[in-house]
Amino acid sequence: MKDEMTRAAGAAAEEPISEKLMHIYDRLFRAFGPQHWWPAETPFEVIVGAILTQAVSWKNVVAAISNLKDAGLLDPRALAAASEETLKALVRPAGYYNAKAKKLRCFARYLVDRWGGDLEAMFSTPVRRLREELLGLHGIGPETADSILLYAGGLPVFVVDAYTIRAFGRLGLLRSGASYEEAQGMFMRHLPEDSALFNEYHALIVELGKSCCAKRSPRCGACPLGDLCPGGVTDPLRTSPG
Ligand code: SF4
Repeated sequence: MKDEMTRAAGAAAEEPISEKLMHIYDRLFRAFGPQHWWPAETPFEVIVGAILTQAVSWKNVVAAISNLKDAGLLDPRALAAASEETLKALVRPAGYYNAKAKKLRCFARYLVDRWGGDLEAMFSTPVRRLREELLGLHGIGPETADSILLYAGGLPVFVVDAYTIRAFGRLGLLRSGASYEEAQGMFMRHLPEDSALFNEYHALIVELGKSCCAKRSPRCGACPLGDLCPGGVTDPLRTSPG
């Protein structure tokens, strides 16, 4: 059994990176199914969620979004005009509410001042230029900017997070301590430029990170990638998912 698993890992290691990435995607999709990201009613709500979700669990974000919705502030102009004190009180469930209220207001003002509040106009800008602009806004880092581009704009930009760097480092596809840009470059060079694929792939990686690939004590025996993973802890009783 062990030899078979070693051979499987060896064969996988010889696959071109693009095939290996698609093999991993297929395994994750079969194991976890469609993730239906991003849960929101409008692209603007996706953006608000992407800003609020920094460093907090999603259920806290849902409570903050619900407060904003009830106050009629899930609208660019209304949000831009709201006072920071009002926003702080409404987004309090999402934690770091001083900083997050400021970030939301900055983004809403940018959207209104630069694009007349029109997200379609914003997303029709060439993606590299728009990404640079978003990264220039207060409190918008690469993961948030790319989540906005992919999940609100439907643009083919791969989103990376700590789960991605950890799991794909263990899988031998990223060096340990790889930067956001290195990780993103690896996916975008080797996968077809397909926003639906990028959408589902990132969501599946988050599920992998939450369910199996924890920072300490990963649950490799339950992982759908166990036999492909040189950094995993192999459970000899486990059978390959195919
Ligand atoms: S086998 Fe273990 S280390 Fe490898 S991806 Fe799965 S959970 Fe992470």
